Amino acid sequence: MTDFSQTQFLTSAVGPAGFPPADRPEIAFAGRSNVGKSSAINALANRKRLAFASKTPGRTQAINFFDLGPAARLVDLPGYGYAEVPQATRAEWDALVGGYLGNRPCLAVVVVLMDVRHPLKDHDLHLFEWLRPVGAKLLVLLTKADKLSRSAALSARTTVLAALRARAIHAEVMVFSAAKKLGVEETRGLLQDWLEQAAGNKRPPV
Ligand code: GDP
Repeated sequence: MTDFSQTQFLTSAVGPAGFPPADRPEIAFAGRSNVGKSSAINALANRKRLAFASKTPGRTQAINFFDLGPAARLVDLPGYGYAEVPQATRAEWDALVGGYLGNRPCLAVVVVLMDVRHPLKDHDLHLFEWLRPVGAKLLVLLTKADKLSRSAALSARTTVLAALRARAIHAEVMVFSAAKKLGVEETRGLLQDWLEQAAGNKRPPV
């Protein structure tokens, strides 16, 4: 059983040489800058400042790895989609994140975060296309749901589900708020189930 409160910073990497060995299932978190990714990771781990984003667009990007108990890892990918980011930084992001997503056999789950009020921007769709050949399970968290009424948030979820289905992208979609702790338990439960499945798949047949 994965205990999210056991999440601990492991290492930060700016290229594949810095990645830890691919020896246990990983859950990677991706999303536009400012979408609420750090807040979501902190809420899941029930910690205040485990993950925190630098607010400086264009600074050196890094992938942060966390141990999720002894048997899994949580991976915080750098945010994308700052309009003012120079081309060179965008290429750096592509190389770093592409180098991770395209070559990580232990990648079990990718959590894609999108603001419930502005989902499915071009950069998000680009990411889903990158993820298509990866074969990891996909969970979409629609963040900052406290900014909408419950019915408007649920309706946004229905729209996102339909749009993903229309693109043949298979993903679970959850309404989430780190501020109001909405969807936090459900997300932990689903990720735990998927990690157990990933571990089960690795077991040799009896
Ligand atoms: P990151 O850049 O994706 O890591 O985003 P952060 O977690 O740093 O959050 C960006 C901004 O959104 C901050 O001002 C947060 O306080 C705010 N934020 C994050 N999660 C929520 C949420 O659930 N509800 C609301 N209303 N604001 C949030």
